[in-house]
Amino acid sequence: MHIVQPGMEIDVLKENSKIANENFRLMKSHGIKSVDFMGSIGAGKTALIIKLAEKLRAKGVRVCAIAGDVTGADDYGRFEKSGLDAVNCNTGHECHLDANLVRKSLSKIDLDAYDVIFIENVGNLVCPADFALGTDYRVVVISTTEGDDMVRKHHDIFLHSDIAILNKMDIADAVGVDPEVIIEDYRKLTGGLKEMYMCSARKDEGVDEILVALGL
Ligand code: MG
Ligand code: ZN
Repeated sequence: MHIVQPGMEIDVLKENSKIANENFRLMKSHGIKSVDFMGSIGAGKTALIIKLAEKLRAKGVRVCAIAGDVTGADDYGRFEKSGLDAVNCNTGHECHLDANLVRKSLSKIDLDAYDVIFIENVGNLVCPADFALGTDYRVVVISTTEGDDMVRKHHDIFLHSDIAILNKMDIADAVGVDPEVIIEDYRKLTGGLKEMYMCSARKDEGVDEILVALGL
């Protein structure tokens, strides 16, 4: 929850951008590529990160994840169980990660030991859009189970991210969602300048294309 008084919001966002720039430079100085994964609870961010990381590790790329959640260590536990090195980052009350929380997490990581850092943002399609973290890419993950109106309802996050991913394609039919509707909304919103990638992290379909899109 970020409740701010009028005028304060600008300062908060300005301070965030400053720290985000520092995070970016810090990661670059260690040759690290990074991605911020945003999306609702249940969109499949954790599963997708695990799958992407598995593929990268098989190629000898060293990956670390930051698991952002309000409380608890569930996603962190899933990362560790999959063999992915991770740091848990609880926000306490906030429904989004900010650059300062990421800076604290980065201080717990041996930056020379990794080539890629994946950051899983808190499950939320609204305020993460406002808080850059200092990553190379910002990605929004949605799933077919969320219905076909996600792009129409959440313009900001789709405009503030570099690419979008439509996950759980394997069950689109079962939940009665036509992916073309979502893709067409995205095309209209972004003027065709950005791409939405369709995948099933669970079935490992379309995941390689996402790695290519992220330059990994
Ligand atoms: Mg998750
Ligand atoms: Zn928030």
